[in-house]
Formats: sequence, structure tokens, C-alpha cells
Amino acid sequence: MIEMYSESTAAALAAAVRNRIVSATELAMAALARIAEGEPKVHAFNQVTPEMAIETAERIDAAIAAGEKVGPLAGVPVAFKDNMNLIGTRTTCSSKILENYESVYNATAVARMLDAGVVPLGKLNMDEFAFGSSGESSHTGPARNPWDLTRIPGGSSAGSAAAVAAGFTPLTLGSDTGGSIRQPGAMTGTVALKPTYGRVSRYGLVAFASSLDQIGPISRTVEDSALALSVIAGKDPMDATSHDAEVEDFVAAARDADVSGMRIGVVRDAFEAEGLQPEVREAFEDAVKRFEAIGAKVDEVSLPMSQNAIAAYYVIAPAEASSNLARFDGIRYGHRVSDAEDVIDLYLRSRAEGFGPESKRRIMLGTYALSAGYYDAYYAQAQRARTLIAREFGEAFERFDVLLTPTSPQVAWRFGEKSDPLTMYLSDVFTIPVNLAGNAAINVPVGFSKHGGDKLPIGLQIIGDYFAEAKLFRAAAALELEMALDLKSPIAEAADSDDTPPDAQGMLGYFTS
Ligand code: GLN
Repeated sequence: MIEMYSESTAAALAAAVRNRIVSATELAMAALARIAEGEPKVHAFNQVTPEMAIETAERIDAAIAAGEKVGPLAGVPVAFKDNMNLIGTRTTCSSKILENYESVYNATAVARMLDAGVVPLGKLNMDEFAFGSSGESSHTGPARNPWDLTRIPGGSSAGSAAAVAAGFTPLTLGSDTGGSIRQPGAMTGTVALKPTYGRVSRYGLVAFASSLDQIGPISRTVEDSALALSVIAGKDPMDATSHDAEVEDFVAAARDADVSGMRIGVVRDAFEAEGLQPEVREAFEDAVKRFEAIGAKVDEVSLPMSQNAIAAYYVIAPAEASSNLARFDGIRYGHRVSDAEDVIDLYLRSRAEGFGPESKRRIMLGTYALSAGYYDAYYAQAQRARTLIAREFGEAFERFDVLLTPTSPQVAWRFGEKSDPLTMYLSDVFTIPVNLAGNAAINVPVGFSKHGGDKLPIGLQIIGDYFAEAKLFRAAAALELEMALDLKSPIAEAADSDDTPPDAQGMLGYFTS
């Protein structure tokens, strides 16, 4: 089991712990050993929490030994994106302005994972405040793609995806405002779910754009994604936008893996998307054929309104961000200059020093779009486009159970390759419309590109109606079964081939040095 750690699923590890085939402590040690070995190359973490992991694991082992009932994820090592509060850790959002911010409460999604018995390994690297599609805007330096360390792992949940692909953990949580769970999922060959807006509480998630943000899982398998959603989903009195939609048996849906008779709509407009790579297109077409072969009823659909999605998003998301980030002023929160002349000087210089360039760009864009005289031309207009995009999805879901697009037009690119922000923004062309409409969508790995001789994962996006995650899991699991891809990255491979047994003292030394 420990030798197999890097390819084990959360479901399998939880079963092994429950049945006392392996202890939670042994698993925590295995996870920490993998991290100690691979993390210097990958930089998936902003903070590793070895003491917390071992203490939690020991507590779970004691509970199991005492015959107590444990949660469905008991003993499974997991990690959280660094914009989610977890007591005992810093929540930095990979920003200098929050580099010393200690979490004073648990995010609801984090608390629900802890209640389910997970063993927290730490906090994961990300684009600063989740602004980005590559991980490169992180103040701590970017996470790297375990498939090719010279390439981006996607973003903004860069570390959440890289940690799973590197075999550090079978399961992480990320957040998705315009694609930040699904796109890194596509870049790293992992399963990545953005739930329906309102499905998962946002309480304790540092807000980027409150009308778009959702927390969701990144995992190796569809079943683990379903298991994680069943743990974190549901109404939360601390988030008024969380919904009381029934939390169905998602794991059963994933195990069912049956698409016979399912009406699947292929989004035709995707083929005309700017920058769509031929290999991504081929993998997409192949996945469509496979769905047909296993009994789905496939037809084409067009979503022309979605062409306006990126433009609308880059008004709405920065507008909300500029308002949400106003609280980081060096007084209520965050980095504060020590030699300010007066309060205005303190605000100006603390923020100037604390925020990175992409955050400043977003704050300026958003403030401009909301300013008197421009509000109607930009913000109100973008909201109208948003309504039309949501309506168009609604009409499509009258005819189809799920819709398909590639997740990203491109495979993982090299660091520095997209230096112009607009080119970066365009890479979310397939994911952003879904956030604007509020629907659910999942990334499923569907193959590899031989791009420049490198083997790089390609992802498919399956989009579902509001609260139709069960259908997503059914379709995603059917495709996963049909594709049967070997998704072990070179970094995970290297970790498993090293048979040195984990050495607890050495590991703790590594993390504390
Ligand atoms: N890449 C998009 C952006 O930069 C989406 C990021 C996200 O989903 N957090 O805004």
C-alpha cells in the first residue's frame, strides 16, 4: 500500500485505514516522504504541516483502535489551496500582503473535510489571490508541472493540481472563479470539479469574485471527486449563497458510470476557438466518438453568446475583486509599512508593497469599471451579457443532459511563454462561460499531446445543469473507464521507484529546516 501511495485513490486509502491494512500514521509518513523528495522540484506547497499531519493521523488511529466510527475520508492525506482558512496555518493567497496572516477559523469546506477524517498536509501554492491561469503570479514562486518541470501546471489552483499529479496526495481542494480548478486539472492530467454555484459553502475562502467563486476537489479519479463533493457539499448557515439542493449519492453515480441514452451536446463553437491546438482537437473528437460507442446520444449544439464571456468576465470579476481586496489595507489586514507619515501614506504604501502586478491590474480594471460614468457602459453591460450566457446554457440543458468542450485550447505551456495578460486571459475561453452561468463542470483527462516530444495531458470539460453533478460523475466515470489512461507523471513515477522507507526524524528535519 505504501509503495503504491502515489497512485492510490482516496477511496482505496480510506478503506485500507478503516480495515486496518495500513495505519493513518503510516500513510501520513508516506505522504510526507513523497513531499520531502518531490517538493523541491515541484513547489506545490506554500506551507507543509508535518506535526499537524502526524497528530491528526495518530488521533484517527487511536479512534479506530478504540472501535469508534470514523468519517468516510479517515486517514487520507489531503491539502488545501492557500486561500482557504485552516486553523494552525497561514492563509497567504500566495501574496506578500498576507504572508503572515494566521487563520483564526476553519473554512466550512475545510472543516467538513476534517470532520470526514482527512489528514492535512498543508497549504498549496496558487496564483496571487487566484488571479491567473499559470501559477506564475504567486509571490512564493510558481509551482511546476510534474509532467514537465519547465512548464506551468495551470492556475490558479496550481499547487492543488501539481500536488495530486506529483503523487503527494490523492486529493486536494482548489477554487474556481473562471476555470482555476478545471484548467490546472487539464494541464496535469487530474480530475477537477467546479461544482454548481452554491453547492459548496464559500465561508472561509478568501473572496476573489463572490458571485463566481466555488470550491471543488482535484483528484486522480472520478470516484474520489464524487466522494469529496459528498463531504463538502450542502447548505451552510455561514454562507447565504450556499444552496440546500439535495446532496445525492455521488459515489453511486460515479460507480454507475453509465451513459446509455444520455443526451450529450458537443459545443460546436469550440472548434473555432482561437489557438485550439490540433492535438487537443483530436483528443476532443476522439472522446466524443467514445461517448457514442458506449451508448450516449450525441448531437451538436451552438452557444454563440459565450463568445462574449471573456469580455464580460474581465469586467465582472475584477469589479468584484477590487471591492473584495479593499479590506487588505495594512490596518484591518495584511502587510503594513512601519514608517508611514499618515494614514493615507500607510494605505498607499502598504498596498503598493503588498500586492503583486496582476493584483494591481485587477484592482485598477475593477475600480475603473465601477466608477461613476463608466458603470453602465461596462459593469451593467457585462451583467446583461452574463444573463444572456446563462439563458443560453439553460436552453441547451432543455435538450441535453451534459455538454462537452475541451477544458483548455492548449496543453501546458512553458514558463514565461504567455507574458502578455490578454493571451493569458484567452486561455480560459471554455471555462469562463460556465462560471458566469453558475453551472457545474468537470475536467476529465482524455489523452496526451506529443507536443515538442513531451508527453503532456489533455483534458475534456463536461458541463452540467445546476446541481446536476450526479450526471457529470456518471459521464466522467464512463469516459474514464473507457479511456483507461495511465496518468502517472514522471515525478510520481520517480517517487514510487525509490524504495527507501520513510524516516520520520529525517522528514521532520527537512520540513523544519
Ligand atoms: N484565469 C482566470 C483569472 O485569472 C480564472 C482564475 C480563477 O478561476 N480563479 O481570473
